[in-house]
Amino acid sequence: MYQAKCKKCFGKRFWKVRRGKLRCKNCRYEFTPKIGGMRLTKYQWEALLKWFLRCQSLNVIVKETDISEYKVLKALNLVRQVMAVDIPEVFEGEVEVDETYLGGQWKFKRKSVKKSQKPSKRGLGTTKQPVFGILARCGRVWATIVPDAEAKDLIPIIEKRIKRGSRVNSDTWRAYTGLATKGYVHRTVEHAKQEYVKGKSHINGLEGFFGYLKRQLASRGGIRKERLSYYLAEYVWRYNYRELPIEKKVKRLFNLVANT
Ligand SMILES: [Zn+2]
Repeated sequence: MYQAKCKKCFGKRFWKVRRGKLRCKNCRYEFTPKIGGMRLTKYQWEALLKWFLRCQSLNVIVKETDISEYKVLKALNLVRQVMAVDIPEVFEGEVEVDETYLGGQWKFKRKSVKKSQKPSKRGLGTTKQPVFGILARCGRVWATIVPDAEAKDLIPIIEKRIKRGSRVNSDTWRAYTGLATKGYVHRTVEHAKQEYVKGKSHINGLEGFFGYLKRQLASRGGIRKERLSYYLAEYVWRYNYRELPIEKKVKRLFNLVANT
């Protein structure tokens, strides 16, 4: 838990007084403690997190919490930062890797860009943003934007994020060739042949996450491309903790925010 400090005398013992304020037992100074670097009470943070987890709409959060739009935006920025680091550093065991392309979801897509789309290596438009994902069957998913979906982009991430000796399931995309020489047990599945489930060799878990991600981005009515990494962390977190009751999600995020 976070530890508040008196602004005047740096005392650490307080009486709780009205509206989330604290009164210093040493110098009697009364103040709203800073949580997550902001003058929001625990109660305000919890309300903000609850509405954010429920609906994601800025207007609704501002209206329901009675916190200024400026503060809500600043707070949500921090929430997404803590969400981004609330994942395991390293994945192991039975792991899936896959890439997907986002693009239909962009807001403010320039017409010239739309027209100049040329088929790229995997037959997709040049404005499509490749996203690479890792999923541990017994645990969590993680995804990041990548400049391209070639071996030079993906292999270093795999080596950093997946423990050697893990069983890595992928499709037959050329970027994954050679994973076995890097110390992984590599299993492939051929998309085109519709043999998605070949015993344990499949990437259904990640495909489930990518489907969820695309639906969520589409339901926002599109996002700006440069904001993608920001939202990606949010949806990875939401997906990883989708089974958790909302009070526990609020508690988890509050503790992360309070400890930043
Ligand atoms: Zn004091």
